[in-house]
Amino acid sequence: MNLLTQNSKIKKTSKKFGVRLFNFGIPAYKSVSGKITCPFAGDCVKFCYAQKGAYIWSNVKPAFEKRYELTKTDDFVNKMNEEIAKKKPDYVRVHDSGDYYSPAYLQKWLAVAIHNPRVRFYSYTNSVEMLKNVTLPANYDIIFSDSGKQKHLIDEKKDRHTRIFHNHSELISAGYVDSSEYDLMATKWFNKNHKIGLIFH
Ligand code: SF4
Repeated sequence: MNLLTQNSKIKKTSKKFGVRLFNFGIPAYKSVSGKITCPFAGDCVKFCYAQKGAYIWSNVKPAFEKRYELTKTDDFVNKMNEEIAKKKPDYVRVHDSGDYYSPAYLQKWLAVAIHNPRVRFYSYTNSVEMLKNVTLPANYDIIFSDSGKQKHLIDEKKDRHTRIFHNHSELISAGYVDSSEYDLMATKWFNKNHKIGLIFH
């Protein structure tokens, strides 16, 4: 099973910056067995890009389910370490689909990051409280999404966070940096501004 893949935005970003960037995805919002994979999702469920298009093609969807099942096992960290050794990413976007659904699951990713200090990991997340309760290694970055149930916990003055705009000029005049085209622009390694703008499609 491919644990690390490349969606079209991730591919485009890799090419633009000349880096090896991969993404890891589990089912968006809930698994086929009905388990919630984005427990703090809010309005985003209505417009979730990961519940449509290529994400739900019949040849792709089962892979998301399989990866989710693996995340629940004790073997997840080892398997991910092996995948990283094989694919040699520079950057991993954790969750192009899905979210940190439990503190135990989050700890598995932190263990992977500690095992792989040369790889940089990042996520957009609605699990604001969970992430605020851990110390992240230096090779981990988090961008809080402004569309979840815990958005009131985001301190927009200092927390890296997203806001969705209708167009580019609105985004720029609000003082945000556009990461709609190139995903790494959302991260601390490519952009010192913690205000991350996305354009609604
Ligand atoms: S958190 Fe992300 S994957 Fe989950 S429902 Fe919201 S937009 Fe979709």
